[in-house]
Amino acid sequence: MSSNSQVNSGVTKPGSGELAEQDMMKCFTETNRELKITETLFSHIERLAKIGAWNLDLVTGMMTGSNEIYRLYELPIGTKIDRDLAVSAYRGATRATLDKAVGDAIKHGRPFDLTVPFVTVSGRERWVRLLGSAEIDKGITVNLFGTIQDVTEERERQEEMRRLALTDQLTGLANRYAFQETANEQIRTCRDNGLFSAVCIVDLNRFKEINDHLGHEAGDHVLKSIAQWLETSLDTANMVSRLGGDEFAIVTTGKDSVEAVYRELETILASTEQTFEYQGRTIPVSVSMGIAIFPEDGSDVQQLTKHADLALYAVKAEGKRRVRRFEAPMSIAFTRRITVLSEFRRAIENGEIVPYYQPVVDLKTERVSGFEALARWNHPEKGVLLPGAFSDIFENGPICEALGRNMLKRITSDMKSWKADGIDFVRIGFNVEKAELKQDDFAQSVLDEIESAGLDHCNLIVEFTENSGFGDDRTVVEQLARLRSAGVRVALDDFGTGFSSLTHLQKLPFDILKIDRSFIHDISNSPTNLAIVKALVTLGKELGYSIVAEGIENSQQQDLLWRLGCDRGQGFLFSKAIPAAELPDCVRRSVNSKSSSSTWSGVTAA
Ligand code: C2E
Ligand code: CA
Ligand code: CA
Repeated sequence: MSSNSQVNSGVTKPGSGELAEQDMMKCFTETNRELKITETLFSHIERLAKIGAWNLDLVTGMMTGSNEIYRLYELPIGTKIDRDLAVSAYRGATRATLDKAVGDAIKHGRPFDLTVPFVTVSGRERWVRLLGSAEIDKGITVNLFGTIQDVTEERERQEEMRRLALTDQLTGLANRYAFQETANEQIRTCRDNGLFSAVCIVDLNRFKEINDHLGHEAGDHVLKSIAQWLETSLDTANMVSRLGGDEFAIVTTGKDSVEAVYRELETILASTEQTFEYQGRTIPVSVSMGIAIFPEDGSDVQQLTKHADLALYAVKAEGKRRVRRFEAPMSIAFTRRITVLSEFRRAIENGEIVPYYQPVVDLKTERVSGFEALARWNHPEKGVLLPGAFSDIFENGPICEALGRNMLKRITSDMKSWKADGIDFVRIGFNVEKAELKQDDFAQSVLDEIESAGLDHCNLIVEFTENSGFGDDRTVVEQLARLRSAGVRVALDDFGTGFSSLTHLQKLPFDILKIDRSFIHDISNSPTNLAIVKALVTLGKELGYSIVAEGIENSQQQDLLWRLGCDRGQGFLFSKAIPAAELPDCVRRSVNSKSSSSTWSGVTAA
């Protein structure tokens, strides 16, 4: 089959002009009727699919094509198209690509398939998919033929989809995927040219509070404003993206020194505290930032991002600075953290985590009024470990929950056996974390546990620390209220250290205020702390709470606190936390004696 017959078999003959369909139909004879119908249908398809067939006669250098080819070029149907006119639609680098493909087809008979930009004779820019094959006669290529399809719309759709897939819808910044792509490119360029670059992770501080207190629209407004601030603080060639939530990432362009990289970030580094206006309110926002510099802090984007993240984690944990650059020990600290987490999980399973009990005493009579259960790790090699040794676990929700379940089980089981032995142990305080209180079924599971041990709800005190602003969290408030209404007492722990304790006092349902030991330890020497404790006790009493002072280490503090009106206290003066087995003795001594020396001498400390 000749190339011409291939081109023309399915389409209107090139150069024949477009006859009206009706006229054409009339002159069809019966014998070629079917062929003609097929031909017409093909012309419809051609038109709908914007696909045309072409043929380049290598001997004459002339191109012929179906009607769609003329439409694509924007030429009158039948115009003579020589080779120059044919290739004039392909400009710049595209021409070189085409020349090579055509050359290969002529020389080696290799077919081609290109999707390239195309310019019509009137200068309109399109995208086409160009397929070509060679017709070889006696070893010589005589014709090139193929199809061209106008793929502009499909291409635009793809581009739009790609843009959407790479854009963060809220802020309009590049998203995580786009960040990966661009950052990889930037770092590759830096590697090739011996340049320095920074990958920075920027995180909003206390963003959740903005969302919780002012609503999600205010939160969205802050995110958009931060995005804008980051973008305008940097030259446009740097890339700012939103990784998700309140986390943003920056990758800077290549610079010839670390100092130059820092200069680029200068504006951001100098103003990590921002304020934004929203509906007549001023919202203060601060950001924390972790930085990793290429090539010193990492050799690829993945490592740089991980290290910038570790630096950010260090900033947040430290709470003093706003910005830190990665340092190798951060990696070690991270590995240690991970190890502690997995070992702690295992320790819970192995029954190595047990409650010790610290007495809470009446400051006047020195009688034990209850105990606070404190977690201790009976480590097989290291001995009894205090929470300071596993403090990392308190930042991990699931492990906190596992610890809480384990502690409650053991506490209620201890209480059950004391009860069976006739020990009047009064109440036991049990520390809970935010992660636990955020569970919808927390209150119910605590109540179930107490009941299944045959105890009274009023035997338990739940202690929680209001230092992370969760007082406005509905679930937390509901869980606490549910416990209280069932008779469990609720204590606000470490009172005075929470950033907004006072404002939350009215909203939170609790009975006991525990004044943090940081105020107590130098109460005798610090007039400020004395004034604070005095104010806290007065306020607490006025609001009807029972007051417990923590960390009493000497009798001077005890006297002072008692005179200020504080009812009860706990501290090393009386006893450290003791193992469960020692509790009955401790209670008996307290009941039988009135003087502190006889009550508390001989108590084992742990
Ligand atoms: P906290 O609830 O404020 O517990 C009181 C801490 O003060 C205990 O430290 C206790 O040993 C210590 N302490 C008591 N009296 C004195 C004193 O006179 N002087 C000094 N310097 N310290 C005193 P510990 O046992 O190391 O616990 C530290 C924190 O770990 C606790 O603070 C609590 O927030 C947390 N924690 C302990 N056990 C648990 C638990 O079972 N669950 C949860 N979620 N947290 C726990
Ligand atoms: Ca406590
Ligand atoms: Ca406390």
